[in-house]
Parts: sequence; structure tokens; C-alpha cells
Amino acid sequence: MRPRLSVPTYVEGILAKDRVVLSRAITLIESRLASDRTLAQEVLEQVLPHTGHSLRVGITGVPGVGKSTFIESLGQYLTSQGTTLAVLTVDPSSQRSGGSILGDKTRMETLSHNPLAYIRPSAAGSSLGGVAHRTREAMLLCEAAGFEVLLIETVGVGQSETLVRGMTDFFLLLMLAGAGDELQGIKKGIMEMADAVVITKADGLNRQSANRAVMEYQNALHLFPASESNWITPVITCSALENSGIDEVWKQVKHYQKATEANGFFALNRQYQNLDWMQSYIRQELEERFRNHPDIHQQWNITQKAVQAGQELPLRAARRLLSLFFK
Ligand code: GDP
Repeated sequence: MRPRLSVPTYVEGILAKDRVVLSRAITLIESRLASDRTLAQEVLEQVLPHTGHSLRVGITGVPGVGKSTFIESLGQYLTSQGTTLAVLTVDPSSQRSGGSILGDKTRMETLSHNPLAYIRPSAAGSSLGGVAHRTREAMLLCEAAGFEVLLIETVGVGQSETLVRGMTDFFLLLMLAGAGDELQGIKKGIMEMADAVVITKADGLNRQSANRAVMEYQNALHLFPASESNWITPVITCSALENSGIDEVWKQVKHYQKATEANGFFALNRQYQNLDWMQSYIRQELEERFRNHPDIHQQWNITQKAVQAGQELPLRAARRLLSLFFK
């Protein structure tokens, strides 16, 4: 393990936009060692006054939809205008299988060499909740380092998109045209969370089906109740290959920002998210302590088996374990 730096060295390095220090600080917040947690908290506390000024954009879509290619194009577009951006990923697959759908290093090759962009592969962790906390903290560090736009990418195969929705200002859902009904069925819940639906790969032979998909998704979106932000979710086609539609996507993000800043939703949403962050942190911390309590640890497997086999009622087992914890 590389030696840790002092709190002021981390803080000054981050504020001076030193990427090496930023990366080391993110490694620090990802650590599960108790001493690192204490150090990380101090660093976070001190950079906190310098956070909150970035636009946080979540991006999701099934593997193969074109997320990394899209982020490359969007990244090129933003940096060509002098906008700095950081890309973080939340990848539930990396903890489940040891492998990763998003984390491979060859993704976003061009952007990774761009001096205005910073790409950080996914945080590992034993639970999705834990990964979410680390991503939120990494997000704050990137904000303190002055990145104007944060892109939080996740693969749309589980609950990770709900988590990313809960930490971003704008949520982009990337979809393929004509990808089959079963897939669209899964996507309904996610579609409801989207602030924009982007039909990717609208080029060549795909163009017509992409245009048809726009109509279909617009119709589907009409069926959802109006959102609290008063924003009407647009459906946009884009081709990262032909570099078309990327500017339109960004225009919509900026429209949204302007409209929701004006109607107060932008700030309100962040307030909700902060509350939610606190609550989920408490839940996670309690559960972790509960599971690590020696008495619970000892009883855990036996109790699970007993409940599964119907030898003990779930409620009774839960009460028994809780009483061991709170005794
Ligand atoms: P991810 O798994 O969602 O990150 O998807 P990738 O960005 O890796 O893209 C998956 C595949 O789709 C790759 O083979 C890309 O070359 C291809 N692809 C991505 N964007 C486009 C596009 O705009 N048009 C076309 N025709 N292919 C694309």
C-alpha cells in the first residue's frame, strides 16, 4: 500500500487540481481501513466548502448500447468548448463477478488522454450501497478539484441506476432502437427516471428505426405522470460514430438546468439527495455493524438456515438477532 499523505497535502493538492493527488484521495476514500476512513472524512470535511458547483449528469444503458462511445463524443464536445469534465463509474458487476462490464481500461481511450478530462474507473465494494457512498464522495473530490461537469456512468442492469439517479442533477437513458419487447419491458421503470432518452447509433441502416423509436418512446413517456420538475423528457437520436445529436443532447441538459434553476427544483432536488445520502449512510452503517457484531456473526448462518427450512419464523428470528445486538 502506498503511504498516505497528510490531510493538508490532500486538500491543497485537490484544490490545486493536481490529478495525482486527486487519484490518491479517491483511493483513500475507497479504502475500508478504519484509519483511512478517519483521514478521508477529514479531507472531505475540508473540501466541502469548495463543492456543489458542478453539473452532475448520470448516464445509463444496457451493455453495448454505446455508453463509452457516447461519453467519448460528449467529452470531446465539451472539452472542445473548454469545459472540464470528470467521468466516474458505478459498476455493480465488478463486485459480483470480480470481472467488470465498465471498468476495462481500453474504454474512452481518446478522452483519457485529454488534459481537460479525468476518468476514474469504478469503485469496488462489498455492497452496492457502499459503492454508492464512495462514488458520492469521489464526486465531491472531483468538484473540489474544479471539474465543471461530472458524468456518472452506470450499466443499466440492476439497481445501480436508481442510485445514480439519486446523486445526479440530470439523468440520461441511452436506448437502442428496435431492441425487442422484453428489453423495453425492463426499461419502463428506468424510463420513468430519465430526464432525456437518447436513441444511440442513429446512423446508416439504423436511422429509420431510430426515428420510429423516437415516436414510440415519446408516446410511452406521455403515459407517465408529470414529474415534480415540470420537465418534459425529450427523446433525441444521436450517432457517436457520425458525431450527430451530441450537441442537441447537451442543449437539453442546459435547458433543463436553466428551467429547474428558475423553478427551484434544481436546488430542492439536491436538498432531497443530501437527506437521502444521510439516511442511506445511517442504514448502511447500522447494517454493517449489525452483521459484524460477534454474537450476530456467530448466529447468522444457523439462523438463515432455520428460517429457510421453516424451523423458525422470520419475524421471531429477526427479533432474536436484534435483541442480541441491542442487549
Ligand atoms: P457500452 O457497452 O454501452 O459502453 O457500449 P460501447 O460504447 O462499447 O459500444 C458498443 C458497440 O457499439 C461498439 O462496437 C461501438 O463501436 C458501437 N457503437 C457505439 N456508438 C455507435 C454509433 O453511434 N453508431 C454505430 N453504428 N455504432 C456505435
